Amino acid sequence: MSEKTLFSKIVDREIPADIVYEDDLCLAFRDISPQSPVHILVIPKKPIPSIAAIADEDANLLGHLWLIIRNIAAAEELDNGYRVTVNCGHEGGQTVDHLHFHLMGGRQLKWPPG
Ligand code: 5GP
Repeated sequence: MSEKTLFSKIVDREIPADIVYEDDLCLAFRDISPQSPVHILVIPKKPIPSIAAIADEDANLLGHLWLIIRNIAAAEELDNGYRVTVNCGHEGGQTVDHLHFHLMGGRQLKWPPG
């Protein structure tokens, strides 16, 4: 079996995190190095390595994640807007090989991100 991802260790409470939401399918926790006043990572518990590795059978799971992101953004009162980013692969800036959505808000975000 392949080694557990960093984020699977957070799911299994082997590494502490500031968890803001959990259900059977996903976990959301605050980024350890926040780039905005609100910076939350939303992950599937299933250790999908990246967008490039999403399978057709993951369609419902991905839909669920978007609904949870919407709910967390509302709970965090990001009423003025927010950004959801998924980095994919080396040039995309991905550093943790476990699919994750960055939910960022609480300040004016610039575009393009760089
Ligand atoms: P990526 O660069 O892969 O898109 O995003 C990985 C994110 O995970 C980064 O924003 C980084 O700050 C965050 N991160 C890395 N290690 C940890 C950790 O141990 N705990 C938490 N909460 N976030 C982490």
